[in-house]
Amino acid sequence: MSGTVLVTGASRGIGKSTALLLSQSGYSVAVNYLNSADAANDIAEYINSHGGRAGAFKADVSEPDEVERMFSEIRLSLGEVTALVNNAGIAEQRVFSDISSSQWERMLAVHLTGAFNCSKEALKDMIRRKSGSIVNISSMWGQTGGSCEVHYSAAKAGIIGLTKALAKEVAPSSITVNCVAPGIIATDMMSGFSSEDKENMCADIPLGRLGTPDEVAHAVKFLLSESARYITGQVLAVNGGLVI
Ligand code: NAP
Repeated sequence: MSGTVLVTGASRGIGKSTALLLSQSGYSVAVNYLNSADAANDIAEYINSHGGRAGAFKADVSEPDEVERMFSEIRLSLGEVTALVNNAGIAEQRVFSDISSSQWERMLAVHLTGAFNCSKEALKDMIRRKSGSIVNISSMWGQTGGSCEVHYSAAKAGIIGLTKALAKEVAPSSITVNCVAPGIIATDMMSGFSSEDKENMCADIPLGRLGTPDEVAHAVKFLLSESARYITGQVLAVNGGLVI
């Protein structure tokens, strides 16, 4: 694999694993973050000191101006973005009647508008080059709906719709757009759940355990690879059999 990949929300969790795996596969990696500057810089330094090429880039993906600036900075230091992983996300458990308008809007802004903003910037160069790949990180809750996560589920379902529609639109430019829908993955996002909660979750998962960020990263890597050039508009589930 070659070129430059932008992984949004790459300071922790699934994004971090994806950034590290893609750097090992030959990509120059733009590590996007919002608050975790030290963590993002450490990841970029680690990659640079292990024979790869990376930089850390701060931007709130929900803000179009910040995203545009980030793409200019990446172009200058790592070259044009040839692959994009829309991964940045937030989670919140709340009964529907307690979700405020601002919480609803923030959830959609980070996940859905974030993917819109970054895809729009990335496609400027991809369409001119007539090549490129985008992988959006949805969730099994975007496929099935999660109780007490209506705003999260709506945002993640929106990402699946965005993926399918955009895949059709940019296919004539040989650009693929796919989705990975993780199940329950052991990251900071799960830190609000007790050990007992997690044991109960594992009991429901056919493969009997939570997924790892690395297992999601491998699915992303496959969808960005040459082996997946004829796959577009698809949702690849990484969920241990929880949703089949
Ligand atoms: P995580 O460990 O909580 O990490 C979230 C990442 O997103 C961090 O790097 C954070 O950056 C970044 N981020 C949040 N808001 C941002 C914004 N507005 N702009 C830029 N970056 C932002 O989460 P994770 O579990 O790895 O989840 C990654 C993705 O997978 C998310 O889209 C999530 O919805 C999805 N997912 C996760 C699971 C799971 O079980 N963990 C399951 C299904 C889907 P800072 O730290 O710099 O703020």
